[in-house]
Amino acid sequence: MYEEELEVAIKVVIVGNGAVGKSSMIQRYCKGIFTRDYKKTIGVDFLERQISLGGEEVRLMVWDTAGQEEFDAITRAYYRGAQACVLAFSTTDRDSFEAVRSWKKKVEDECGEIPTVLVQNKIDLADHSVVEPEEAEMLARSLGCRLFRVSVKEDVNVGPVFRHLAACCLEEM
Ligand code: GDP
Repeated sequence: MYEEELEVAIKVVIVGNGAVGKSSMIQRYCKGIFTRDYKKTIGVDFLERQISLGGEEVRLMVWDTAGQEEFDAITRAYYRGAQACVLAFSTTDRDSFEAVRSWKKKVEDECGEIPTVLVQNKIDLADHSVVEPEEAEMLARSLGCRLFRVSVKEDVNVGPVFRHLAACCLEEM
């Protein structure tokens, strides 16, 4: 007998200040590569990766802002229909940490409450950290989301971010 496969597709948006590693994270997760000088490709909206989770096939479409955040001009289309969100900041960029709350608000204004995680990227540069571990934990707690410490460069903890979000989305379906 043929059983129709019902595929779950989830749109994930990654927000945060420029240069925190958003595009690199998408490249790493969806293509398995890290290139220092990766040029943002205008016109590529998202990359995708399929995973199985609890016997379910899940297609994650991870959207790239393509640098729009630098002009504070992220289009509605970017957020439209987003079901999960990564709030990203960098270990070596204090401003990016301070900006997390306003990014969360932007996402909430456009998408309502969706499963969200806080990602501290570039933990390979911990020696140059400008954010105390407790501060990051406190922020995560006050935002009501989980904190993942990640190095996109060294491929530390990237997969778990997206698995967690996918699991949260499946629970809500
Ligand atoms: P975006 O503007 O947020 O999309 O950031 P990019 O993905 O363009 O990354 C900005 C810079 O940070 C690039 O030079 C990346 O190679 C670098 N980068 C990204 N992730 C990491 C990381 O985990 N560790 C280190 N050391 N550098 C990273």
